[in-house]
Amino acid sequence: MKSWVAGAEGSGYDVTHLPYGVFSSGDDEPRVGVRIGDFVVDLAPLAASEMLEGAHVFETRSLNAFMALGRPAWDSVRGWLFEMLTDEEERETVEPFLQPVSEVVMHMPFEVADYVDFYCSLHHASNTGRIFRPDAEPLRPNWRHLPVGYHGRAGTVVPSGTPVVRPNGQRKSEQAESPAYEPTRRLDIEAELGFVVGAPSARGRSVGTAAFADHVFGVVLVNDWSARDIQGWESVPLGPFLAKSFATSIATWVTPLAALSSAYVDLPGQDPEPLPYLAVDDPAGLDVEVEIELNGTVVSRPPYRTMYWSPAQMLAHLTVNGASLRTGDLYASGTISGPDPGQRGSLLELSWGGREPFDLAGTKRSFLEDGDVVVLRATAPGADDTRILLGEVAGRIEPADRD
Ligand code: CA
Repeated sequence: MKSWVAGAEGSGYDVTHLPYGVFSSGDDEPRVGVRIGDFVVDLAPLAASEMLEGAHVFETRSLNAFMALGRPAWDSVRGWLFEMLTDEEERETVEPFLQPVSEVVMHMPFEVADYVDFYCSLHHASNTGRIFRPDAEPLRPNWRHLPVGYHGRAGTVVPSGTPVVRPNGQRKSEQAESPAYEPTRRLDIEAELGFVVGAPSARGRSVGTAAFADHVFGVVLVNDWSARDIQGWESVPLGPFLAKSFATSIATWVTPLAALSSAYVDLPGQDPEPLPYLAVDDPAGLDVEVEIELNGTVVSRPPYRTMYWSPAQMLAHLTVNGASLRTGDLYASGTISGPDPGQRGSLLELSWGGREPFDLAGTKRSFLEDGDVVVLRATAPGADDTRILLGEVAGRIEPADRD
């Protein structure tokens, strides 16, 4: 089925994708929209004019109210949108509510409740192990038994396009006797996929892998900005803290989980077999191809299908102790790195800890410099051999605050 919207087919935003976001135009209040081709559908007035049940959820400046309604409502709205955007007879009704994407401002798509970041790439975990502990086994003993993660800072998750100020902090070189307080010299990126929780769960109850699609509304690309020198000094023994909490960038378009139904692939293989609460039957991996661009040059192409742990396993592990889910929870996969050097998802790996700088348009680079612009993009298989384009994540590095 094709949409009557001109240019939608083949754009990565055809009628089988329909990502949601929050937009505003002129002096209007931000509200929920859905993307088709190079247009945003202004959902609130369209849904109201069609007397769609629950239309008011689209009048708010976040997706949370809509996401809280749960899977039946998400599927019903998606089916309705599909009808409206493919049936030529609906064109007259919908057309007045289309606005060119180039004429609107995009905002944070949802209010982040809790934020969790995992560490689910075997290749990333192995690379960092080799970089930091070259004489030891790269993986810690727990790594193949559970998806390792930590709780991050929800309040500093920012939308694509938000500048990132180089963080100050404590760093200590191996030669120095004591730490210095200064701007990080090892500012890095981590290309990740994020999963957005819509339907909450009760405290004291775990959410099994089979309930993944009942709770997860959609996915966003994530850049988990990281200060490696601050991280190295502060994170023993308790893990990431200020090295990560200054900013995490996400796409402004949330791709509904339903749009990824053609993207499921088998996991690369788990050995040993996980404990029963982490078991998954069907293909549980996702074939999402990511691209990292630094100052206009693509430096890496991490393949998400190489991730060891599936998103359903991350959710099951996150709740196995009875921790409840809230609408707006965001959990990210951890850095996506494939087996090849050109598939590494961080500059730490691309420069092998800074010891082997990589080429960037004729210069040698290791970590981020002021003025650098990083853009993450991703595509996935859509219906009928098409490809969908996930919303990009862009960010520019600004100099540290020296006051
Ligand atoms: Ca991370």
